[in-house]
Amino acid sequence: MKISKVNQSRINEVDFSNLPFGKVFTDHMLICTYENGQWGEPEIRPYGPIPMSPATHALHYGQAVFEGMKAYRKDNGVVSIFRPEANFQRLNRSAERMTIPPVPRELFMDGLIQLIQLDYDWVPAGEDISLYIRPFLYASSEFIAARPSESYVFCILLSPSGPYYSGAVKVKIEEKFVRSADGGVGFAKAAGNYGAAFYPTRLAQEAGFTQIIWTDHKNHQLIEESGTMNVAMVIDGVFRTPALSDRILAGITRDSILTMLRDQGYPVQEGPVTVDELLTAAREGRLNEMFGMGTAAVISPISHIGYRGQIVEVPTPTDGLSVSIKKALSDIRLGRTADKYGWMHDVFRP
Ligand SMILES: *Cc1c(COP(=O)(O)O)cnc(C)c1O
Repeated sequence: MKISKVNQSRINEVDFSNLPFGKVFTDHMLICTYENGQWGEPEIRPYGPIPMSPATHALHYGQAVFEGMKAYRKDNGVVSIFRPEANFQRLNRSAERMTIPPVPRELFMDGLIQLIQLDYDWVPAGEDISLYIRPFLYASSEFIAARPSESYVFCILLSPSGPYYSGAVKVKIEEKFVRSADGGVGFAKAAGNYGAAFYPTRLAQEAGFTQIIWTDHKNHQLIEESGTMNVAMVIDGVFRTPALSDRILAGITRDSILTMLRDQGYPVQEGPVTVDELLTAAREGRLNEMFGMGTAAVISPISHIGYRGQIVEVPTPTDGLSVSIKKALSDIRLGRTADKYGWMHDVFRP
């Protein structure tokens, strides 16, 4: 691996006590190109612009996928990445759907670890802050023709970040627009999925909501996801979350929470939740809580549901499941409890 370091670190310019989400980047990034059917030598170089042709394929046809993961600073000072293998696998599942060649495991893992070692001091310590890691892959050929690109770029950025949302969110049940459909790309972390979600999300925000609850593309009766997070609700003391399908992204936070709950013997049901069932439960006081699950926000409590012009309140108990599960996850990540599932990948200072 080629490594060129910055002459002067920017770390002293950063206010670590007041970090935004995804706006501050560390000194270095990893970059590797795929040409003539193979990946070249990866390079770590100073964070900065990537010069590109206006004919760059990804800009025209959206052949691009990404990942989002986090590294934490444990209480003992060691930096640890949460479930990197799961993100690696998902990146390549997304890539396959978008006709992008897979990234080799050594390139992803060794590249990530060496990059974090170089920018070790940038990993913040604290409850709600961490190092957000953004690996991405895009089509880099310079031609205008609607067929797969011949060259690709794999890049990893590191961003010390604070909380994503602050406080509970108000969601709107979406009945017009869809995020995904059977046979589509909803399960992939494809860049265009986000681009397509911005417009309906903006309309919901103009109506006073924070996020959308997506429903199924056929009848708008099944609850699917909450914006950029998987969604869960506790109804009559049972943890409910829609089952995975090619319309739903297989969240690693969702999987981690399901694993912990099953292990604790908490009643869990993965399967359909209809809009009617949810709203009836809410009106009858049987909806105990509801929340989004994802790497960026971890757990995002939902306080209000908007549906056809009406607003239904959702309890946000401070001693509820979302609070206890968030703490249990945080305890694993900060090394306060045994890592019994082998989720933490420690990175030591070289
Ligand atoms: C990334 C993402 C999630 C959450 O996945 P995590 O692995 O938990 O971060 C959920 N839904 C969508 C649409 C996503 O893109």
